[in-house]
Amino acid sequence: MSARDWIDKDFYRELGVSSDASDAEVKKAYRKLARELHPDANPGNADAEARFKSVSEAYGVVGDPEKRKQYDEARSMFGGGLRGGFGGGSGFDFGDAFGQQGGFTGGSGGGLGDLFGNLFNRAKSGGGTTARPRRGADVETDVRLDFVEAVRGATVPLRLSSPSTCDTCHGSGARPGSSPKTCVTCGGVGLVSRSQGAFAFSEPCRDCRGTGRIIDDPCPDCAGEGVNTKTRTLTVRIPAGVEDEQRIRLAGQGEPGRSGAPAGDLYVRVHVTPHPVFGRSGNDLTLKVPVSYTELALGTTLTVPTLDGVVSLNVAPGTASGRVLRVRGKGVQRRDGQSGHLLVTLQVTVPADLDDDARTALEAYAKATATHDPRPELTALVQKARQS
Ligand SMILES: [Zn+2]
Ligand SMILES: [Zn+2]
Repeated sequence: MSARDWIDKDFYRELGVSSDASDAEVKKAYRKLARELHPDANPGNADAEARFKSVSEAYGVVGDPEKRKQYDEARSMFGGGLRGGFGGGSGFDFGDAFGQQGGFTGGSGGGLGDLFGNLFNRAKSGGGTTARPRRGADVETDVRLDFVEAVRGATVPLRLSSPSTCDTCHGSGARPGSSPKTCVTCGGVGLVSRSQGAFAFSEPCRDCRGTGRIIDDPCPDCAGEGVNTKTRTLTVRIPAGVEDEQRIRLAGQGEPGRSGAPAGDLYVRVHVTPHPVFGRSGNDLTLKVPVSYTELALGTTLTVPTLDGVVSLNVAPGTASGRVLRVRGKGVQRRDGQSGHLLVTLQVTVPADLDDDARTALEAYAKATATHDPRPELTALVQKARQS
C-alpha cells in the first residue's frame, strides 16, 4: 500500500468512527463490521467481500497506534489539498515519511484470513485453532402435496443441492499434497493499489482474484474453489394435517456445521393442491352436498363420500338449507390425538328446467301452501314500512 493511499482514504469513515475515537472504540467498531461482513456470513456477496477488505484495511492502519499516528499526521499535513495537485512533484518523499511500514500485513505473511482468524480466535477462545466452529446454514425448500397427502401426512423424498466444503482438499482448493501459495503480487492481502492521475485506488488483486492465495495445482474435484455442490437425498416425513403454505422445521437437517458445530435446520414449505370436492378448515374437512327441496322437506338418507370411503347421512324431514351435518372422526387425524370431523353442508339446488308434469305438481304444491309465509319477520317489516 502506498503512502498516497493512506491519505486518500478515510479509514475512520470506513470503520464508522470519528477521528478522535479511542483505540477501544475503533476495535469495537471493527469487530462488529468484520463479523457482519465476513465472507463466511455472506457467501457470494461481492459487495460484502469488498467492504470486508476495506474495513480490514482501515483497521490495519487505524487499529495500530503507530500507523494511526502517522496516518493522522499525514492527513493533517495534506488534508484537503490532496485531490488536485498530488502528482506534481511537490518534493515530499513519502518513502521517507512512511518508511517500510506502508502495509498492514507487515511480516506476518498470513493475509487477511489469518489476520482475521487470529483476532477472532483470541477474542473467542484464546486458542490457536484455525477453523472456527460455525453452525451449518439453514436450508429452505419447497414441496408440493396433494390434498389427501396433506390430510394424512406423507413421506416425501427431497433432493437438496447445496454448496459444501470440498472433501478432497478440505476447502483449500489445492490438489491434495500441495498447498496454496501466498500471492506475490499483493503479498497475500488480496488488494493492490492502482494509481490513476492524482488518485489511488485499492482494488482486488487480479492475480489471485482477491483471495491472497495462488493455487498452482488445483484440486480436481472442486476446480480450486474449495467448495463444491453436493446433492443430498433426504426422506422427510410430513405430519398429518399440514396446511397450505405452512413451513415445517426439521431440526438439524440443514447444512452440516463446521468443526463440530451443530448442523443448520431444514425448512420445508408445503404447497397443497386443492381437492376438487373437499375443503379444509383446520382439522375439519368440509363438503358441500347439493340436495333437492323435496329431500329436505320430506327427509331422506344421503350417501356421501369421505376421504376413505362413504357414509350414510340421515336428513330429517323439514331440515333447513345450509344446515351442517357433522360426521365424527372423518377429518384430519393428527398424531398427537387431535382429530377433526367431516362437516357436510346441505345446499338446496333449484332445477333450471321443469317438465310439464313437474311444473303442474309444483303449482299444485304452491297452491296448497299459499297460506304459509316462509318469511314472516320480513313481511312484518315490509308492512311496517308501508304504513309509515
Ligand atoms: Zn477440492
Ligand atoms: Zn494477489
